[in-house]
Amino acid sequence: MSIQENIRKLDAEIPGHVAIIAVSKRKPVEDIMQAYEAGHRIFGENRVQELIEKQPLLPGDINWHMIGHLQTNKVKYIAGFVDMIHSVDSLKLALAIDREADKTGRVIPVLLQVHIADEESKFGFSEDELNSLLDSQELSVLRNIRIDGLMGMATYTEDLEKIRSEFRYLGEVFSRVKNAYFAGSDHFRQISMGMSGDYEIAIEEGSTMIRVGTVIFGARTY
Ligand SMILES: *Cc1c(COP(=O)(O)O)cnc(C)c1O
Repeated sequence: MSIQENIRKLDAEIPGHVAIIAVSKRKPVEDIMQAYEAGHRIFGENRVQELIEKQPLLPGDINWHMIGHLQTNKVKYIAGFVDMIHSVDSLKLALAIDREADKTGRVIPVLLQVHIADEESKFGFSEDELNSLLDSQELSVLRNIRIDGLMGMATYTEDLEKIRSEFRYLGEVFSRVKNAYFAGSDHFRQISMGMSGDYEIAIEEGSTMIRVGTVIFGARTY
């Protein structure tokens, strides 16, 4: 099937309250244009370098989401245009995003990444770390980031029940954090979880944003 058919099929299959972040990493701008012409507007990249190379070549009404690990010294390259950063995994990064957003006169929506996998390699806060972060005075004074929810990545495994329990856990952390810190907020409502292999489970467990590349663009060659 073509990229256009893939995206239309996925759109038809996914409930309306779930946003599809089309992960276009390692894919050329021509492929992104295929999805764009099918009406898709939200794309995700995981590397700053690739994002800043593609963004100027593509239509201005694309919403760009940064979904990968982000170094504080690279925030300045994307702060002027990025529509959401899914991968805030330290106070230092939150401070850097706020500072760079302030310089460009923007408020950048972000998600806090939670470590839900039992793999060392995945970034993110534990629930305790999340609570300390949200209690901190330093975070509460920031005016140029807006915390819209949480993001997580499940363990890379075939064990679907394990994946489900990790997504369920993220949903529970989301509810606790919302009640404790964002009860009055209309913005704190996103749970970014689910990739090509597990988005159906993620939606069943409360995902509001799936980040899918392979099911739209096909396998990536490295
Ligand atoms: C690559 C990537 C995805 C999408 O992966 P697929 O398996 O191709 O859907 C989702 N989230 C992050 C953070 C990624 O780096």
